[in-house]
Amino acid sequence: MKTKDFIAQSAKYSANNYNPLPVVIANGDGIWVWDIEGKKYLDCLSAYSALNQGHCHPEIIQVLIEQAGRATLTSRAFMNDQMGDFLQKLCEMCEMEMALPMNTGAEAVETALKAARKWGYQVKGVAANQAEIIVCRDNFHGRTISIVSASTEEQYRDGFGPFTPGFKVIDFGNAQQLEAAITPNTVAFLVEPIQGEAGILVPPESYLTEVRKICSKNRVLFILDEIQTGLGRTGKLFAYQHEKNAKPDALILGKALGGGVYPVSAMVASREVLGVFKPGDHGSTFGGNPLGSAVARKALDVILKEKLAENSQELGQYFMKQLRAIASPHVKEIRGRGLFIGIEIKTSSGPARPFCERLMDLGVLAKETHAQTIRLAPPLIIKKKDIDWLVEQIKEVLEA
Ligand SMILES: *Cc1c(COP(=O)(O)O)cnc(C)c1O
Repeated sequence: MKTKDFIAQSAKYSANNYNPLPVVIANGDGIWVWDIEGKKYLDCLSAYSALNQGHCHPEIIQVLIEQAGRATLTSRAFMNDQMGDFLQKLCEMCEMEMALPMNTGAEAVETALKAARKWGYQVKGVAANQAEIIVCRDNFHGRTISIVSASTEEQYRDGFGPFTPGFKVIDFGNAQQLEAAITPNTVAFLVEPIQGEAGILVPPESYLTEVRKICSKNRVLFILDEIQTGLGRTGKLFAYQHEKNAKPDALILGKALGGGVYPVSAMVASREVLGVFKPGDHGSTFGGNPLGSAVARKALDVILKEKLAENSQELGQYFMKQLRAIASPHVKEIRGRGLFIGIEIKTSSGPARPFCERLMDLGVLAKETHAQTIRLAPPLIIKKKDIDWLVEQIKEVLEA
């Protein structure tokens, strides 16, 4: 089959809920992928940062194969010998006390919403069914009905009502609005440290420090969705660590937690928060399974051992500097942190999509986020010489 045959097959049998670039990938290794015709590309999306460790990381694949031959699934009706080590390592890295393992990011966000509400009723003393959770405009937390109930993106909601009540929306990056929006029924503030899908929007300095203070003062849980920004992507293990005294009450992780091979997510928090769950309150058939646990444990090891956060910090700064040196009539702004970079294209130059298509022709896979921003988020194992090559390709497209 040729590329056009795969595209036709997918058009025939797959629901049309994505608009992919017309490339059919057959192989991946590190920062590179190859399409079915053998053309090589540098992956600058990393599956929305699920591939921080790179494609087919040999140690992660080895653990996957070994564990797959031993035991893959027990359900939580029984215990398994892999989950404990994974959760201990995860809690240690997050400096948190407990974790609840799930599979996809959206499930971990749902877990956090449930935990926050139950904490509100059991610990804070909010009256039954009155709990409010504050979120930000242009957030992205996933696709379930309750999560899109908290979204302000019309397309994510259109045709999917009725919605889950209990959310209040404020502007991202504005701590005063948070303080003003809090009521005695507010149980949590759920936010991304950098808004990824909204176009790599970095909040003003000290925003998270302020948020931490306001949440503590008002007894509101500060919940950070670091599904995309976490595990080294922004140049620190977690993006909140760029600020002082900004540690949240709960972290939501996913994507790179599964090492790019297997869906693993988790909510990680204090005992006060995750302690609200008792047997039967919440669960997942595949959550905490031995295959996912073994893979995630190794995925975390690789991030630490290969110093991926440090590499992201160093090469992110270098990359940003090179990008800013490009004289382009099309660029409105370049922003980001670590290897989490957005190039916003001026509306007068048209949408970002055709720029991504030209990059693809040159062997760079990047995807636009919203209409105007090209997201650059290569695997964190990337080296300086590959950044130099990338800059050359991007330069060619942006200078044209
Ligand atoms: C990807 C993402 C999610 C949802 O994760 P899924 O695994 O796609 O359900 C939630 N929050 C953020 C910030 C994300 O980037």
